[in-house]
Amino acid sequence: MTEVPEITLNNGQRIPQFGFGVFLVPPAQTEQAVTTALAAGYRHIDTAQMYGNEKEVGEAIARSGLDRSDVYVTTKLANNAHLPDDARRAFDGSLKALGMDYVDLFLIHWPLPTRYDGDYVTTWDTLEEFYRDGRARSIGVSNFQAHHLRRLHTESEMPPAVDQIEVNPYLTQDELRGFCAEHQIAVEAWSPLGRGNVLGDPTIDDIARKYGKTPAQVVLRWHIERGDIVFPKSVSPARIGENIDIFDFQLAGDDVEAISALNRDQRTGPDPDTFAG
Ligand code: NAD
Repeated sequence: MTEVPEITLNNGQRIPQFGFGVFLVPPAQTEQAVTTALAAGYRHIDTAQMYGNEKEVGEAIARSGLDRSDVYVTTKLANNAHLPDDARRAFDGSLKALGMDYVDLFLIHWPLPTRYDGDYVTTWDTLEEFYRDGRARSIGVSNFQAHHLRRLHTESEMPPAVDQIEVNPYLTQDELRGFCAEHQIAVEAWSPLGRGNVLGDPTIDDIARKYGKTPAQVVLRWHIERGDIVFPKSVSPARIGENIDIFDFQLAGDDVEAISALNRDQRTGPDPDTFAG
């Protein structure tokens, strides 16, 4: 079985550094995709209320024969449920859909600074309830910029365990990652392959040839060397197997740097400062 490293979060909980993302996997394909990923050795699944496939994720895990405690499960609060009572109802709904009595990690999906009077702090305080009652083993945020994190730091009690942000070789996010490192917030890199956009890059192709690996494997390994947590998505069994087959090699420091130098500050997704959900 593939040895996936673990990262210790600021609350002492451990998270596998590599997992499987199910954004845009249609519900009808989700159980099969997650089953394939679990069989290939994945033990960390990243879903969200807004993906509409929590139920199928839960079914695949239940049918896998694995213990619940052997699979790390993350889900995220929907953008229409930031008010405290809505968030409580939505969290209950996630547990019910997943068929679980706890999640490993629960995130605010987007800060939505232009909605709810810009008050993501009250939403965060509500997530703290789920942490305290044990139904979320860790809580964190997603798409938070440094200034959003700073506000949580000064106005609320608990620091987020993670910030899940868009990172790929064309969007290296070194400033925000530096802020997170300084504040013991683990970084999860979403769309680690830039949704496929970075895979035709000549520098990445050259490095891939040198190691006898595919461009996707080299990019995923680059994230691992930089210490971020990743969960690439694919519904193809061959790619699901290819993406986890990255723990038998390491990139030399200058190759990591050559890939980081491709940065163009280019997002594939929305800008968290203006995105309204
Ligand atoms: P990704 O970077 O993982 O790219 C996925 C796409 O790359 C696939 O659709 C496929 O076309 C291609 N691909 C995958 N493996 C490949 C391979 N081996 N070779 C060639 N092409 C390959 O993009 P993603 O799905 O957007 O992101 C991964 C996960 O990140 C999501 O499933 C989700 O869990 C999370 N995510 C979170 C947010 C957020 O706001 N928090 C936003 C987007 C994604």
